[in-house]
Amino acid sequence: GKDFAICFYDEELEASVNRERDIVEALSAIAADRKTDNHLFLQYQPILSLKTGRICGFEALARLKTAKLGLVSPVEFIPIAEKTKFILPLGEKVIVKAFCFLNKLKELGYDEIGVSINISIIQLLNPTFANRLFTLIKEMEVNPENVAIELTESVFASDYDSINNVIAHLRKAGIQIAIDDFGTGYSSLAREKELKVDCMKIDKYFIDKLLGVDPHNAITSDIISISHKLGHCTIAEGVEHDLQLEYLKEHDCDRIQGYLISKPLDEDDAIKFLERNCTPTRSNEKDGTDHN
Ligand code: C2E
Ligand code: MG
Ligand code: MG
Ligand code: MG
Repeated sequence: GKDFAICFYDEELEASVNRERDIVEALSAIAADRKTDNHLFLQYQPILSLKTGRICGFEALARLKTAKLGLVSPVEFIPIAEKTKFILPLGEKVIVKAFCFLNKLKELGYDEIGVSINISIIQLLNPTFANRLFTLIKEMEVNPENVAIELTESVFASDYDSINNVIAHLRKAGIQIAIDDFGTGYSSLAREKELKVDCMKIDKYFIDKLLGVDPHNAITSDIISISHKLGHCTIAEGVEHDLQLEYLKEHDCDRIQGYLISKPLDEDDAIKFLERNCTPTRSNEKDGTDHN
């Protein structure tokens, strides 16, 4: 009866409070560099250009894994990192790891492959964010044109002017800005012209609709054509089926990402995937004598 229900609820609540506490503990240890070697790591999902037929980049996706917690999805730990502000040190570690990956690609002769990094509003509103990013770019000798930053539309719901200033500053340095999950959030097609950015990542929601009944199909093609009119490139996310790929090709979408191409991969597998699917633009000089 009632007592049982209340008791059951408490147990569930306690379990979720404990799990959140364990995640906070793990994030705090990572932030403080306490014996957390690979607790935070990145997977990389290839992005295919439909214009060139080549892999043109990867999206870096954060993962948390500890003995106690197992593998934790970013859907679960990023909001906790944002709430506790651990997203600031964690976000910087994500950037450093993604830049190390870019440098490995460069060493293998892939000069033109980019990496796309998800950045939270908390990071973007941190006054030191842009300068810290520029410093890392310089120190790690990364080409800023190979760096893209993904922001969700909700970012623009907060301090619109300061957000736009940061974005303008980043773009002036050659960094690309992409709007993630476009079409699902705060802004819309009607407001797209106010967004001074480079790319629209069309949310999986619309890509899924391509498999359904006909009338919905128009929305994806509208997003693509309006984006092109405004000078924005388009990336379809969550592409899983050939039917979606055919539609996207036919309607001039620039790039696709999704399980049809590949799931997110560990770093070594991402490099193997690239070597299997994409010849380097520059010959691999790793074994040359210039360093000896
Ligand atoms: P997102 O940026 O929209 O990333 C795309 C998500 O869709 C990823 O989930 C990816 O694994 C998944 N996905 C890609 N292709 C397919 C597909 O064909 N089918 C299906 N069903 N799913 C697909 P993931 O890795 O769990 O990441 C979830 C979200 O967590 C990301 O959504 C992003 O918003 C956030 N996130 C991940 N890494 C970071 C990070 O380093 N910093 C911040 N602030 N957020 C991050
Ligand atoms: Mg993203
Ligand atoms: Mg996305
Ligand atoms: Mg998404």
